[in-house]
Amino acid sequence: MKVLKFGGTSVANAQHIKQVQNIIKNLDENNIVVVVSALGGITDLLLRTIDMASNQDEKYKDSLQEIEDRHIKTIKELIPIQLQSAILSKVKSELNTLDTLAEGAFLIAEKTPQLTDKIVSFGELLSSYIISEFFVSAGMNSAFKDSRELIKTDDTFGKAAVDFENTNKNCNAYFSKTKNKITVIPGFISSTAQGNSTTLGRGGSDYSAAVVASAIDAEELQIWTDVSGMYTANPRIVKQAKAIPQISYEEAMELSHFGAKVLYPPTIQPVLSKNIPILIKNTFAPEEAGTLIAKNDNAQGKSVRGISNVEHITLLSLEGPGMIGIPGISKRFFEVLSQTGISVVLITQASSEHSICVGISDVDAAIAESLVNKAFEYEIATNKIKPVLVESELAIIALVGDNMKSHQGLSGKMFSTLGKNNVNIRAIAQGASERNISAVIRKDDVKKALNTLHEEFFEENIKQLNIYVMGVGNVGSRFIKQIQNQKKYLKKILKLNPRVIGLSNSRTMIFDEDGIPLENWDELLAKGKKADRTVFFNTVLSNNHRNSIFVDNTASETIANTYADYLKHSISVVTCNKIACSSDYKKYSDLKELSREY
Ligand code: ADP
Ligand code: ASP
Ligand code: MG
Repeated sequence: MKVLKFGGTSVANAQHIKQVQNIIKNLDENNIVVVVSALGGITDLLLRTIDMASNQDEKYKDSLQEIEDRHIKTIKELIPIQLQSAILSKVKSELNTLDTLAEGAFLIAEKTPQLTDKIVSFGELLSSYIISEFFVSAGMNSAFKDSRELIKTDDTFGKAAVDFENTNKNCNAYFSKTKNKITVIPGFISSTAQGNSTTLGRGGSDYSAAVVASAIDAEELQIWTDVSGMYTANPRIVKQAKAIPQISYEEAMELSHFGAKVLYPPTIQPVLSKNIPILIKNTFAPEEAGTLIAKNDNAQGKSVRGISNVEHITLLSLEGPGMIGIPGISKRFFEVLSQTGISVVLITQASSEHSICVGISDVDAAIAESLVNKAFEYEIATNKIKPVLVESELAIIALVGDNMKSHQGLSGKMFSTLGKNNVNIRAIAQGASERNISAVIRKDDVKKALNTLHEEFFEENIKQLNIYVMGVGNVGSRFIKQIQNQKKYLKKILKLNPRVIGLSNSRTMIFDEDGIPLENWDELLAKGKKADRTVFFNTVLSNNHRNSIFVDNTASETIANTYADYLKHSISVVTCNKIACSSDYKKYSDLKELSREY
């Protein structure tokens, strides 16, 4: 038996669902469990509906309408017309129940986690029913099964814990008897012993699939999504990221825990204990190999396997002269956080015990601050401890790999690479397993940090140079020509990949973060916006690219006077402008000093 899970984008509309059908049709397999998410975006829409309804905002009806329209449209495009009416009437009756529930929230101006789970479960219920009916209408031997009758949980609504004993029993009883080749079940949803609907946490359809795969001892779990596997870094942020062919369970778990959303972190646990391999595949490019997650599969022996990032992080630091003497401070600190269900993503403590610092999610920051200050009220009043220091809008980046422990100098390389690019590091943690080194940085530096580290660890040392050129006279235009002519040579011999990102003369300026096409830069520049050296400088800063270089090909004294500003932001300066380097000696030596410092 195989379990195949299809995510929200894979089932977003009729056209995508047909792709899914193709994938399943081509499988040479007798028993297939297909786990599906809600049509892409529907879970968010349902959550917004409940928020609006419970805030007595009448607009909740518009989003209910949108939910209805999307499902009806999908049915009409998938199912042959003569078979539509029964399916439409069943779906409409479900939508009526949904309307009634939302109206309830509106009338009492209240939402409870229990009601939220009930409402949000309609996303997966509807998608799985429609997809199953579509398979049947296409002549496939398929049946629908409500996973609330299979997966049993406690009553932690919103993120329920699975009762494996009963779940395994239910799954075995059902799947050992079913005669259908394909069983379609809704992901994400489950129920309590009393039969109330629960959900397994956002992104939880992956977990549903893993729970069922483990219960029935499936030979493989396949996660079908919108990218071709687990990548060396989030492919939306790092264009050069590549799918990792094979990875161990532990590495995959670490990457997903630190933000690789392609796999919901709890997914690995149930299949790991049974040694069931997970294959991540792309619904829209099924021919691509994808990523195989299996036991100790670090075949190539690479030290760093991937780099991941978690955004919206807040650091809480507790410090003060009295901390060393008072026993149990850390215990009390963590107790306060755990009692309110605040999860700690990262911990660091200096060996002097003078301070403890933890990373939590931004959404928990305000409540954590007040609770911690309350818990240490006495110590704060007697100046033994300072009120907790709260820094928000941060992010974590983490290097992950099983073999990192046997390689020296990785953290040195990580931090010096970040340092050279002016990425300030607020906290550092390294897991005892040495499978992960993480750093807390500013959220605005995430893109630069990920790309820099990716370049350093994965891109055969080809270094990208992000160049901003001011002045396109004789020297400037020859310079651009040289870059264009020598591109291949620079890449091959010097391992450099220069891109001109900004270009300005005294009249106009242009920017292109993917690199200005150098064949016709002059035409593009002529159509650029009005030149302004302050705007130019601010654009270099806000682009915040790694390896940024300002090249001054003017003869202007005003421009030469701006070098210090660039240097102070770790932006290199290259110039043929003689003013800066051959006028006052003090000016020259100050600039040399700055370039050494930054
Ligand atoms: P689904 O709806 O199929 O469950 P998700 O949106 O939950 O899909 O997960 C897939 C997304 O995960 C990708 O589109 C990508 O943006 C994001 N992602 C983040 N980090 C990684 C990574 N390291 N490898 C692959 N995808 C990643
Ligand atoms: N539909 C749910 C969500 O958006 C579960 C999932 O897609 O995995 O969180
Ligand atoms: Mg997902």
